Amino acid sequence: MKIICIGRNYVAHIKELNNAIPTAPVFFLKPDTSLLIRNRPFYYPSFSSEIHYEAELVLKICKVGKNIQKKFAHTYYEEIGIGLDMTARDLQDAAKEKSLPWAVAKGFDQSAPMGRFLPKSQFYDVKDIFFHLDLNGKTVQQGNSGSMIYDFDDIIVHISTFMTLRTGDYIFTGTPAGVGPVKIGDLLEAYIGQEKLLSCTIK
Ligand code: MG
Repeated sequence: MKIICIGRNYVAHIKELNNAIPTAPVFFLKPDTSLLIRNRPFYYPSFSSEIHYEAELVLKICKVGKNIQKKFAHTYYEEIGIGLDMTARDLQDAAKEKSLPWAVAKGFDQSAPMGRFLPKSQFYDVKDIFFHLDLNGKTVQQGNSGSMIYDFDDIIVHISTFMTLRTGDYIFTGTPAGVGPVKIGDLLEAYIGQEKLLSCTIK
């Protein structure tokens, strides 16, 4: 299983981090050891002093595919969920400065808390999925799949040009504006619509 994450997919988030709008989807990987499931706590790692949350819609890939055509892309996922792309922003900024890879900043253990999934059939329109993240009961991020620069199908087409998608792979589809730091004792709760699918305590 692999976790593929799209970066820079919402204009307002790109602006908040002073990045350029991409001309093609930007993606990176997290290893399977980054997965954090069943609402288990996230333990603040010793190597960072600036861990940020990034709430993102997540696709679960349901069959193997390579060089997927756009018209078939929607058949490669049956479930949609929400996850957190936990980011060691201090390490990422240091890596960016030196044009080095982001692996340590994005791929450390527990860096992918993942909530429950919902069947795609439950959604009236996958281009109009509202989601939000609460930090200690206050909403800090709100997004809608309709605001993504690259939609689910574009993402699947692009990734599968380079990498075979396999059953059970996850795709994090990018975060909207409002990312920010967590501290020990915080509670993160992520929702699709009004349904809470993930909660995560920072320990
Ligand atoms: Mg992200």
